[in-house]
Amino acid sequence: MSTPSLLILPGDGIGPEVMTEVRKIIDWFGARRGLAFEVSEDLVGGAAYDAHGTPLSDATMAKAQEVDAVLLGAVGGPIYDDLDFSVKPERGLLRLRKEMDLFANLRPAQCFDALADFSSLKRDVVAGLDIMIVRELTSGIYFGEPRGIITEGNERVGLNTQRYTESEIARVARSAFELARKRSNKVCSMEKANVMESGILWREVVQKVRDEEYPDVELSHMYADAGGMQLCRWPKQFDVIVTDNLFGDLLSDVAAMLTGSLGMLPSASLGAPMANGRPKALYEPVHGSAPDIAGQGKANPIACILSFAMALRYSFDQGAEADRLEKAVEAVLSSGKRTADLMQAEGGTPVSTGEMGDAILAALDASL
Ligand code: NAD
Repeated sequence: MSTPSLLILPGDGIGPEVMTEVRKIIDWFGARRGLAFEVSEDLVGGAAYDAHGTPLSDATMAKAQEVDAVLLGAVGGPIYDDLDFSVKPERGLLRLRKEMDLFANLRPAQCFDALADFSSLKRDVVAGLDIMIVRELTSGIYFGEPRGIITEGNERVGLNTQRYTESEIARVARSAFELARKRSNKVCSMEKANVMESGILWREVVQKVRDEEYPDVELSHMYADAGGMQLCRWPKQFDVIVTDNLFGDLLSDVAAMLTGSLGMLPSASLGAPMANGRPKALYEPVHGSAPDIAGQGKANPIACILSFAMALRYSFDQGAEADRLEKAVEAVLSSGKRTADLMQAEGGTPVSTGEMGDAILAALDASL
């Protein structure tokens, strides 16, 4: 196979700072593990607007469609707040997701032991937690028609439509089952089949895909509200959770807070397989451009570094190397090194963005 290709879009605010650390990690895998990537870099968000008057140029969009994976930093910032909606930095990100048809959003909630005290839940509930929420990203109530604010009689009505086709449900279910096979072989599907027809269809289709194509994977169903409660009560009962766009939006944020800081959370958005068998893929930290700390060396690069670990696992089939990188992060955290967002009363050694990247590189060296 030819050298895998990566398009890097650092974006705005802390995006370029955290991406600088990821570039060091990518280079390390090339030099020390024989895992070379053909890396190109381009502009997105406010940076692209400043250069081209658009948050994502057609040329960059075309490049994103060609590469094996896109790695994005963050977009946005107060200086762009007054721009017209059509050219706001976020539109660049939305265009990438839409045109690449990235229908499966993967949001892991993983709690490193060293950070278990950051959770609002008790240590034993979250320590060692490792679950994955798969959220349908391109359909459902955020896109369904009809929608709008209409007038009925003498009052206005806000209207949105929850709409899912069988094929939309089946493809995201397949993503969840494929993932489960690489993990603990267990999927829990969440909807509201008790009160929504779209939920009844969701449950039926997920069950059918499992019975016909993934009989080896254990499948359970849960109402999404009960799922929210169970996530806070005993999250370790789950492995992969698959759910729709709206419930996934809520549940993935609930799960995220189980694990502490925004600076720790990676994500992946995957689409259909390309000709070479790899899925269309965009990897990005969950956090935004953090304008309040941009340019000060305070940003935590771990969310972006763990997003690259997801790329290793899900785009490049390098699960063992992804494990190596995650363990290196864990080792650095266990040693007490912390960026500012992870500093707590009981201490730890404060480090800058660059020092955190270097410490992870040293831990990678030590893993050989
Ligand atoms: P944010 O995620 O940028 O920041 C929220 C808080 O978390 C801030 O106090 C910030 O300093 C802190 N934080 C975030 N990431 C951190 C990191 N890696 N290390 C240390 N601290 C970190 O959210 P916000 O302030 O609501 O939004 C700021 C800008 O980012 C806005 O323009 C928003 O539209 C944009 N945004 C972009 C994305 C994206 O690119 N995917 C996501 C969310 C928000």
